[in-house]
Amino acid sequence: MTLHTGRHFLQIPGPTNVPDQVLRAMAAPTIDHRGPEFAELTLHLLDALKPVFGTAGPVVIYPASGTGAWEAALVNTLSPGDRVLCFETGHFATLWQKMATGLGLDVDFVPGDWRHGVDPALLARRLAADTSHSVKAVCVVHNETSTGVTSRIPEIRAAIDTARHPALLCVDTISSLGSIDYRHDEWGVDVTVAGSQKGLMLPPGLSFNAVSEKAVAASRTAALPRSFWDWHPVIEANRRGFFPYTPATNLLYGLKTALELLEAEGLPQVFARHARHARATRAAIHGWGLEVLCADAREHSGALTAVLMPPEHDADKVREVVRERFDMSLGAGLGRLSGRVFRIGHLGHFNDLTLAGTLAGVQMGLRLAGAPVDEGGLQAALDLLSDEPARPAGEGGRV
Ligand SMILES: *Cc1c(COP(=O)(O)O)cnc(C)c1O
Repeated sequence: MTLHTGRHFLQIPGPTNVPDQVLRAMAAPTIDHRGPEFAELTLHLLDALKPVFGTAGPVVIYPASGTGAWEAALVNTLSPGDRVLCFETGHFATLWQKMATGLGLDVDFVPGDWRHGVDPALLARRLAADTSHSVKAVCVVHNETSTGVTSRIPEIRAAIDTARHPALLCVDTISSLGSIDYRHDEWGVDVTVAGSQKGLMLPPGLSFNAVSEKAVAASRTAALPRSFWDWHPVIEANRRGFFPYTPATNLLYGLKTALELLEAEGLPQVFARHARHARATRAAIHGWGLEVLCADAREHSGALTAVLMPPEHDADKVREVVRERFDMSLGAGLGRLSGRVFRIGHLGHFNDLTLAGTLAGVQMGLRLAGAPVDEGGLQAALDLLSDEPARPAGEGGRV
């Protein structure tokens, strides 16, 4: 192992870099989770989470990775054999579909090319054809972390409404919440699934379900077996600021600080920052003469960008050189994209110079890996960062 100095560049699209303030907040004594101080913290957090999800309804917090919150969304709302409509947007959509099948649901998995999001017109046609309303839920990954493609949830909602179909809408926002605009209530989402370790700038270990009234109503008759994931004991105990089991106390300290950071910057500014860094990243990729995997300009992710390598070049070789020489982690190609793409995470605790350093490392890595690149790529990104102000003068605070 090479000895490296300075800070590691963790530029995978999650887990993301944890701000020092969040790390310090977690380095505090664990308290009695049945005492008054803890109840105050929980009640504060349950309120402070609402604007981030864009909901006035309950948010259930689990001491689990995002995968746990996927399972919670399904087992709380559905019954064995229920039909579920899923879309193959990439690796994570494929895993969620597999889980649904494993839980005994009847999954209709619409194939995709891993370069596009969910097609709202196709969804509308599928639901219009389902005149008996046998589809009980539509499950969509908002930001497909394996491809850097963001599906358009408002158009997906509109497609369901146009078909006058009663299916629940479940959305995975594990890599979009706190990075890309998202509105649970306004967009009529029934269950939003989220995790701590991406846009929320926390270590892994917490996940979330934001739950609509319609989803709560569905949970009263849903017959899939559930115990740990059952929303009701959690929502009930949460009323007084408690959990039905031991919560991840220190991660909750971190969550309080992370939510304060998002609030101080302002969510619109947070989303604009991510979109701008994504634009600068694409400017570099185009400048290098390489291709962005996302094939639809309406669906570029603000959280990460996947770079497609020319056919004869191995994307893993680039990642390996960058890790060895420059101590930076880039995201690997997942599933069928293995070796064909690498992913640049530009989400969470991130600024212009983090991006400049990241893209400089990628450019040097491409050169060292023998990829044919035009070295004007980095300059194109720097030009964008210097010419496009981060925020309108006088607006927003330093975070
Ligand atoms: C990271 C991620 C997951 C998996 O979450 P875990 O915390 O690893 O269980 C699921 N979906 C998406 C979109 C993700 O980015």
